Amino acid sequence: MAMHRHGLVSGMVLAVLIGLFAAVDARALPGGRTQSPSSSVNMTIGGVAYTDSRVFFGRYGLKANWVKTGERLRFQGASVKVEIETDKRDAVFNGRRVLLGDPAVFFGSSLYISRVDAEKLFAPLFNPAGAYVPPAPVVRVIAIDPGHGGQDTGTQNKALKLNEKTFTLDVALRLRALLQKQGYKVVMTRTDDRFIPLPERAEIANKAGADLFISIHFNSVENSPAVLGTETYAMTPQNQRSTSTAPSEKDPGARMAYPGNRNDPWNVILGYCIQDKVLGKLGSEDRGLKRARFAVLRFVNVPAVLVESGYLSNTAEARKICTAAYRDDIAEGIAAGIRAYSAATGTTKTK
Ligand SMILES: [Zn+2]
Repeated sequence: MAMHRHGLVSGMVLAVLIGLFAAVDARALPGGRTQSPSSSVNMTIGGVAYTDSRVFFGRYGLKANWVKTGERLRFQGASVKVEIETDKRDAVFNGRRVLLGDPAVFFGSSLYISRVDAEKLFAPLFNPAGAYVPPAPVVRVIAIDPGHGGQDTGTQNKALKLNEKTFTLDVALRLRALLQKQGYKVVMTRTDDRFIPLPERAEIANKAGADLFISIHFNSVENSPAVLGTETYAMTPQNQRSTSTAPSEKDPGARMAYPGNRNDPWNVILGYCIQDKVLGKLGSEDRGLKRARFAVLRFVNVPAVLVESGYLSNTAEARKICTAAYRDDIAEGIAAGIRAYSAATGTTKTK
């Protein structure tokens, strides 16, 4: 569907119509949310600032087409394809799942996305070489954080007698070897089976002058043995709920800005690149680029992500994780993601 341009007079008519629409439509919104339009482009819905996706994506030259009118909207650019869906936090960016902080909302004849999603998720992905402040450091030193350790076993698969901490360290050591071979300096938060408190992990990276921080984990879920796949987390931006917080719930941390938020644009580009390359390598199920205010992500001074490579609670995926070849693939995927991030952001070191 072509984008709808209108002059001043029809714009006023549209604004009046939207006003009427809002009054009629308020009860129809999920979760009993209310909306108060301030213009046809921007409005507040249930206390969240929203913007018209067609206007926002249009600025990047993307053309909108309904896959299903009123439900699923596709945007196509020269090298970018995005899909968003009414009342969903699920979006697709170039074939990969990305999770919105707030669900997209159908209104008038368009889909609206939250302004934080527009500015903190899509804008950096559309323009990874953008001049964000502070600039992304050139990648020379990479901090690798193998999750858990010592008395903290991480998640377990009791039937197969597996501890997460063993596999996080194993993948971290494989990744270190790969990155060193490629000329990076690597700092590890641990190199053996020991307990390191979470804030200390960020501090190790900060003190070592790391340019990136990669935390490696494996996932599990209770009583849902069928769940499997790969997900990557970037720090939740300020004024947004984390992925695990439902739209109907309040996120107590949402108002806070942490040191990790200084790198919001870079975090999301790094997360996307790593999720994309790990999925490409493993062929695992895409659980998406997600958001969380994990302790290790909050206090790192540089672009940082946390990778949940697979589910130890899924027997089939756990068996794969038990093979060295699969763990090599995870490490290679992460390393490829780092290179893709550096290429996209112009932070590849030159000799
Ligand atoms: Zn973990």
